[in-house]
Amino acid sequence: MIIAEQKTLEEIKQIVAGYNKLLVVGCGTCVTVCFAGGEKEVGILASELRMARQMDGQQLETVERTIQRQCEWEFVDQLKDAIEDCDAILSMGCGVGVQGLAERFPTKVVLPALNTKGMALTVQEGLWAERCAGCGNCVLDKFGGVCPIARCSKSLQNGPCGGSVNGKCEIDPEIDCGWQLVYDRMKAINMLDKLYEVQEIKDWSTARDGGPRRINREDLRL
Ligand code: SF4
Ligand code: SF4
Repeated sequence: MIIAEQKTLEEIKQIVAGYNKLLVVGCGTCVTVCFAGGEKEVGILASELRMARQMDGQQLETVERTIQRQCEWEFVDQLKDAIEDCDAILSMGCGVGVQGLAERFPTKVVLPALNTKGMALTVQEGLWAERCAGCGNCVLDKFGGVCPIARCSKSLQNGPCGGSVNGKCEIDPEIDCGWQLVYDRMKAINMLDKLYEVQEIKDWSTARDGGPRRINREDLRL
């Protein structure tokens, strides 16, 4: 899922400064699961912002809505009535959601309340860790299902770099060396010999070919 975390209240206060009636919009999918921008967080943030404004001797009106997904028109369109008399939308969706709202409501100001961090696995309660960097050409078959692009700090496909100590990364000793994980996994599935294969330089054009990546499935359009 996509993970995100809330900007600080101070940052959000500055972002919404100058707007007096805000539509605060949550997203009911990924950011609800990671407790960043679901219905509960919308209620808390809206009330914090109102209180903060009051303490500054001013008024802020908020309208609070949470839709299932901010990345699909079907749900975004449910906001049409609420948007009318608001002077800005504060999105608690990921970066895709913010842009979805901006595209659907081109004359409205749309502001982000979250910082989007990537695609992650829920490792344990309250801990999410990136597992895919969306490179566009998955090579997990070559690395036993451990992604060297997302999990090695240097995204090395021909690793390791030689700097790891006790299985930890030289860039940050708090994180596991991605290549140690690849090695351990390949060993466990008896595929260590595959690591002798030199990987060709990754063709990043499959990931970024001069513009935003797209998947176009015409067969799904009736
Ligand atoms: S190889 Fe690419 S697509 Fe596959 S998990 Fe890693 S970043 Fe994601
Ligand atoms: S120590 Fe491991 S994870 Fe860190 S950069 Fe080197 S190979 Fe990658």
